[in-house]
Amino acid sequence: MTSQHPSPNDLVFTGSGLTVTQTREAITNLVDALLRTSAIEETETVALDDALHRILALPVLSPINVPAADNSAMDGFAFQSSELTNAAPIQLKIVGSVFAGTPYSGTLQSGECLKIMTGALMPPQCDTVIPQEMTRLVPSVASETALVEFAPDAVRAGENRRLCGEDLAKDSVAIAAGRLLRPSDLGLAASLGIATLTVRRKLRVAILSSGNELRQLGDALDPGSIYDSNRYSLMGLLKRLNVDVIDCGIVQDDPASLKAAFQTAALRADVLISSGGVSVGEADFTKQIMQELGDVGFWKIAMRPGRPMAFGVLKPVAGQTPPRSTLFFGLPGNPVAVMVTFYQFVRSALLQLSGSSQLAPPTIQAISSAPIRKKPGRTEFQRGILELGPDGRAQVRVTGSQGAGILRSMSEANCFIVLDHDQGNIATGELVNVVLFEGLL
Ligand code: AMP
Ligand code: MG
Repeated sequence: MTSQHPSPNDLVFTGSGLTVTQTREAITNLVDALLRTSAIEETETVALDDALHRILALPVLSPINVPAADNSAMDGFAFQSSELTNAAPIQLKIVGSVFAGTPYSGTLQSGECLKIMTGALMPPQCDTVIPQEMTRLVPSVASETALVEFAPDAVRAGENRRLCGEDLAKDSVAIAAGRLLRPSDLGLAASLGIATLTVRRKLRVAILSSGNELRQLGDALDPGSIYDSNRYSLMGLLKRLNVDVIDCGIVQDDPASLKAAFQTAALRADVLISSGGVSVGEADFTKQIMQELGDVGFWKIAMRPGRPMAFGVLKPVAGQTPPRSTLFFGLPGNPVAVMVTFYQFVRSALLQLSGSSQLAPPTIQAISSAPIRKKPGRTEFQRGILELGPDGRAQVRVTGSQGAGILRSMSEANCFIVLDHDQGNIATGELVNVVLFEGLL
């Protein structure tokens, strides 16, 4: 990555700060610019069973027609549609059975049909299947063979038959490049006989926590100190995105340690995410280091939680081959703010950087089952519980205390209630936007 990108310091914002939308746009533009100059293009070929949650680098083309031949979509009776006269009811002689995997090799005469199972190849003279449940068996007086009887309007010519190539024509795109591979994609590739997929290499993301008050798990807590929880939330968030995490641990609030840690991370990672040290009072100190290491903006965002955030690019480290810039996110230290800013800004930037075509998390609407206090002029991310109400409709309520440091509210919630910039208080019964944690965090 070179330095030809829009500077995060060029953004002009007013006293209340950047809106969430402006922030997201600025990040997307900067990542776009980085990708234009030096995309992360390395790919690897992995076995299908290792491909879950990887990003597909090359499209999967279908080497075959799916289905490979016309076959029955139902359990029933196969026959030639010329039997469909207006005579009521239609009676056909059952002269055999066709099972999936065993093609029928006989020849049908007029007035005859075959019992057929779902997925069995359509016998040569047959083009229509009448589902079993729409028929009735009639004992035949003339022969040992049973007759099947059905109304002429119970089925139309060609129905209940899957046509060759109907799902996927040979050489067409079965899975597009950029797809974040899901279980169904693995199944789809397997159904085409494809055993390996070419995927993007995993992003390397370094994380560190900054703060003199932070202690490692296992250490004793002296007065005023707290355990470093952010690194664990971030590890979880990043593992869900299936990136390689480089854990740079806890770094003290002193310029030399921070600088060294940032440089080590920049050398090894595509992206560095730190938490803490960007709030008023601490930012000046971090700003100074960042001026030396790259181009980083210190933003105030009109959102809650998550107001202060640093974002930009760290220059390649001297002697690094090949030289590569590192995307930098300096998230606020508050534990909930870390998760909210990750979800709002980091997640989509990582997906974008890793070549994924799916960026935005799905948003739904639900009825607020209680009033919610909200100030216009900032986007709020309240932690909520979404459930089905007594009327069977989706309803949502806020979980307990919403302080930016209160992780329990995240832990008990199953969604974010996203209250837009201009929105004021919400009354009971109003619709609000909701983003579910599942599939997101
Ligand atoms: P800061 O952004 O550094 O001013 O931190 C804001 C608040 O978050 C302070 O109360 C910090 O103690 C707390 N905090 C910062 N980093 C962490 C961390 N890694 N784990 C838990 N709490 C943190
Ligand atoms: Mg701090």
